[in-house]
Amino acid sequence: MSAPTCLFCTIVAGRIPATVVGRSRHSLAFRDIDPQAPSHVLVVPVRHVHNVGELAQAPEELADLFTLAAKVADSEGLDRGYRMVANTGSEGGQIVFHAHVHVLGGRRMEWPPG
Ligand code: 5GP
Ligand code: ZN
Repeated sequence: MSAPTCLFCTIVAGRIPATVVGRSRHSLAFRDIDPQAPSHVLVVPVRHVHNVGELAQAPEELADLFTLAAKVADSEGLDRGYRMVANTGSEGGQIVFHAHVHVLGGRRMEWPPG
């Protein structure tokens, strides 16, 4: 079920444009509007769930999302490595409350994160 006021549901529905770089049975991958690395792709479930913890209750959809994320990393040429981030909850830095994983690469990643 999609949520009418949810930004990522609106992108999944094609009602606002995004640069789509991959799709699978349950997931969609598109470029982040404010990239934090040379490659910065968001991978989201088609179904509206609030965060990846909630998505973990649907293992097939969770696996589908991570499989698409790995394919995107491959198609982006991130063979030297990349970072996957799932900001979860407000203190975790989540701003859009539709589950998503960031795939970041094309530069060396720092640790600890900010
Ligand atoms: P969060 O902080 O929730 O993990 O990340 C949300 C991400 O969504 C941010 O990196 C932000 O740049 C991205 N974002 C916000 N609005 C849009 C939009 O309209 N289109 C796209 N492609 N990305 C967006
Ligand atoms: Zn949504």
